[in-house]
Amino acid sequence: MNAQVVTRFAPSPTGYLHIGGGRTALFNWLYARGRGGKFLLRIEDTDRERSTPEATAAILRGLEWLGLDWDGDVISQFERKDRHAEVAYAMLDRGTAYKCFSTKEEIDAFRAEAEARGSYAVFQSPWRDADPATYPDRPFAVRMKAPRTGETLIDDQVQGEVRIKNETLDDMIVLRSDATPTYMLAVVVDDHDMGVTHVIRGDDHLVNAARQQMIYDAMGWAIPVWAHIPLIHGPDGKKLSKRHGALGVEEYQLMGYPAAGMRNYLTRLGWAHGDNEFFTSEQAMEWFDLKGIGRAPARLDFKKLENLCGQHIAAGDNAALLHELQAFLRAADQPALTEAQSALMLRGMDSLKERAKTFPELIDKARYITSSRPIERDEAAEKALDAVSRSILKSLTPRLQTASWTKDDLEVILTGAAAEHGIGFGKLAAPLRAALAGRTVSPSVYDMMLVIGQDETIARLEDAAA
Ligand code: GLU
Repeated sequence: MNAQVVTRFAPSPTGYLHIGGGRTALFNWLYARGRGGKFLLRIEDTDRERSTPEATAAILRGLEWLGLDWDGDVISQFERKDRHAEVAYAMLDRGTAYKCFSTKEEIDAFRAEAEARGSYAVFQSPWRDADPATYPDRPFAVRMKAPRTGETLIDDQVQGEVRIKNETLDDMIVLRSDATPTYMLAVVVDDHDMGVTHVIRGDDHLVNAARQQMIYDAMGWAIPVWAHIPLIHGPDGKKLSKRHGALGVEEYQLMGYPAAGMRNYLTRLGWAHGDNEFFTSEQAMEWFDLKGIGRAPARLDFKKLENLCGQHIAAGDNAALLHELQAFLRAADQPALTEAQSALMLRGMDSLKERAKTFPELIDKARYITSSRPIERDEAAEKALDAVSRSILKSLTPRLQTASWTKDDLEVILTGAAAEHGIGFGKLAAPLRAALAGRTVSPSVYDMMLVIGQDETIARLEDAAA
């Protein structure tokens, strides 16, 4: 069997892309992309109140930011409701479903009685085997003729073999009396029609899989490969909630994590490939498989996330980083870089990207680029610019005027000046940083001087010496 792999992500719109949903999408994307397969996107928008265009747009934005591209058009489950109803009728034709005319009162009474008897309060419709000649002229629901004995076996790639007793499941409704399809039917029909071969989703859907499998059987359709992944928990091992920190993917974007780092982290969250922690998405596509998914809930670990993000920024391509930084500034509603600043940023990227774990950290290090004269100075910078330091800076400018502006040349000039004044280079670096960046913690003075250039360096030193 080497049919093309087709996976899908099927979120219900809630107003944002949950971090757990982002990981589910990522797993599906990796699985498909690593096998030359297709990754499809279906919005489960049958709840008309929650399913606003904004709620759907938020999911798409989250996926786009994570870099998870899907194949073809976004599919709306709601728009397929006629097809769902058609399948319910096909089940009637096949004799695997029946018309149920029971009223709500009758069903409630059945349940109350069953409960009193102490047996499963699973409704058993009197219409299951009724003669059509006895059908009344009133609305009916279509119920699946579910097996009442034995068990349904879910052969799950993550959870192993899961058996569910059929007597615990009722003849579920697939089409309501108002002709709207139920969620269970819609998912199966959509997955079948979309050609989905692998259903990878949260393990909160494991019991649904048993019911859905019955519908596949009722239609004689091939059952997809199931992989129900454990949910994400907070660092304390409890179910993830707001008090653990950010829940929405977009919040991580606004905190300035790079998408590649986020993908790396989310891939590792519940999946492992040997001891590999840091890897690219290309490697992840090559390695990702369902066997590597753990059975225990994964715990969110912000330290690890930051660490990986720092590594991805450090290893990133300079132009790509600049591009992503610009996108971050737009998303965070922060002032855009001017063209001149962007050019300098690119020139300084090699040093800027060292040890920055997020884009705000990177932009903070780049303050010497984004600030213009007169450079605003913090308290420590003011302190570093005492009278002696100012006079040293002043004495430096004529020499810098004739410098060739290479690192070697600048090193000779600066270390020479420090020696002349009987101070170590560290003592000279502080007022230089203060003059160039307005603070005493910054990238190296050579990096800054080389990036902003000769004229700007001299002008900033003159400002500071004055
Ligand atoms: N819409 C469901 C959810 O958001 C997912 C359904 C599925 O993956 O089958 O949890």
